[in-house]
Amino acid sequence: MTLALHGGRPVRDTMLPYGQQWIDDQDVEAVLRVLRGPYLTQGPAVPAFERKVAEFVGARHAVAFTNGTAALHAACYAAGLGPGDEVITTPITFVASANCALYVGAKPFFADIDPHTYNLDPAQVEAAITPRTKAIVAVDFTGQPADMDAINAIADRHGLVVIQDAAHSIGATYKGRKVGTLAAMTMFSFHPVKHVTTGEGGVIVTDSDEYAAKLRLFRSHGITREHMERDEGPWYYEMVDLGYNYRMTDLQAGLGASQMDKLPMFLERRRRWAEMYTRELLQWDEIITPCQLPDTNSAWHLYMIQFKGDRLNGTRRDWFDAMRAENIGVHVHYIPVYRQPYYRKLGYEPGLCPVAEKWYSQAMTLPLYAKMEERDVHDVIEALGKVVRYFAKSR
Ligand SMILES: *Cc1c(COP(=O)(O)O)cnc(C)c1O
Repeated sequence: MTLALHGGRPVRDTMLPYGQQWIDDQDVEAVLRVLRGPYLTQGPAVPAFERKVAEFVGARHAVAFTNGTAALHAACYAAGLGPGDEVITTPITFVASANCALYVGAKPFFADIDPHTYNLDPAQVEAAITPRTKAIVAVDFTGQPADMDAINAIADRHGLVVIQDAAHSIGATYKGRKVGTLAAMTMFSFHPVKHVTTGEGGVIVTDSDEYAAKLRLFRSHGITREHMERDEGPWYYEMVDLGYNYRMTDLQAGLGASQMDKLPMFLERRRRWAEMYTRELLQWDEIITPCQLPDTNSAWHLYMIQFKGDRLNGTRRDWFDAMRAENIGVHVHYIPVYRQPYYRKLGYEPGLCPVAEKWYSQAMTLPLYAKMEERDVHDVIEALGKVVRYFAKSR
């Protein structure tokens, strides 16, 4: 069959996106209830949403923010990071996982990834530690938890704070334990491509009362009404540190609480589609399917394949363009962060993490979201078959 790229008929008539939210009437009602009530922000919906998230993961505290990036910024503040400190993270992540260190004046250091899981390689983390290292931002890339026992053990030996960027992994488990209970602080994002959405939104969960208090201070201007120096009356408050306005609105939280009810169903469907991909693609010699460790249960935010460059003609760009022409909304997550022009200006060199670079050169994201239907999964597999057959060196 002729590739759509070369004028053939595409597998689909309309573009299948790589990710999309699922909003139903219950969600719409939940937002309307907030709109009809007395509070648009700082009302009861935010603590109710926070309780739902905390209960779902089994953490003592959840603190909501305007978005996941603000939540990571707050976590770096609560961890006490500042100028002169170094923070180790992975290059294969969204820029926010590293930017949060820069926000507080600290320096990100990129440790290379494990070639099988695409998560931080604990040995590379250990090798990156200097006397200035204060924290590790571990990312659960694609939804599979990072090797948290190994990372926590390194952190304990060197007195580091572990912040888990779990933007991809709400609902995932690691050795039978839920993501949200594995690090000092764990961040969830509620952007529409993530499992559960609030439009924009983020949460930090933690078991620490001290971190929770700092996170709440930071998201609201550094203003407190507790433990004040003076109390001049009911109007009185004190600003004790330089915080931000990073508060989530009640509209967002109302939507989030309603969405959380559907999270088990969202997870189930994502896992079902991922299993369908793996079952089919495992049989193809030209493609590497995502390696899942036996003791992790991924939340499946992304389904990432690698094309074997030695078995295919052309480049990732050719395979990507051919898939897009078939109306399959493939994507690539992520460009190694240190290759971004801003990081280059800060002095980071291309080629810093060779495993990540090799992986990036042949990786591609297939569409994966709860609202997909079985026939959509079949369309992706059919298009991939067309593309691989065309570019294969021998078949
Ligand atoms: C989405 C995402 C973030 C940022 O979350 P926002 O809510 O979009 O600010 C951070 N890290 C990773 C890995 C993400 O995927």
